[in-house]
Amino acid sequence: MPNQIKAVFFDRDGTLIHEKPGTYLSDPAKVKLYAPVLPALQKLQAAGFVFFIVSNQSGIGRGYFTEKEVRAVHARLQALLQPVTVKEIVFCPHSPDEKCACRKPGTLLGEQLVRKYHIDPARSFMVGDKKADVLFGRGLGFHSVLLTTANGKKHLQKYPDLKPDFVAKDMLCAARYILREDKKYA
Ligand SMILES: [Mg+2]
Ligand SMILES: [Zn+2]
Repeated sequence: MPNQIKAVFFDRDGTLIHEKPGTYLSDPAKVKLYAPVLPALQKLQAAGFVFFIVSNQSGIGRGYFTEKEVRAVHARLQALLQPVTVKEIVFCPHSPDEKCACRKPGTLLGEQLVRKYHIDPARSFMVGDKKADVLFGRGLGFHSVLLTTANGKKHLQKYPDLKPDFVAKDMLCAARYILREDKKYA
């Protein structure tokens, strides 16, 4: 068994970057990080976590923008995140009615990354702002963190049985929880 790594998976829209309700982001110039994201990810990176982004981009399947535009947005996001490195950004391009296995809460994309990078689920975390993110993390055996940014507050009220492992008001708060949990394994 090769050495396993500990990872934090992030949702993209409404978690790392601002999301305008009801709109689809396809313009790299409009990518804007939430202020606590960079300092939070720097702390987590210093503690040895490896980062991944898993995103539902149904705007592709719906014909609103192309995969190429999504990749341009991701290049911009990677640039804004420096000196933080995200190992891989993966996304589901399908619309919900295609009933694919890669759209969150489907865990296919996560399972592929877990296998490829020998990720230890028990020491890993999923951070997102929606029910689908919590279920995705739980399905992989990760700790789940719900941010009450964009959609988080609404989803907490709408799905009282969701019960993420932790609810955080912003990414710094999430990072503190992750580092606290991580100490238990030291
Ligand atoms: Mg989101
Ligand atoms: Zn898909």
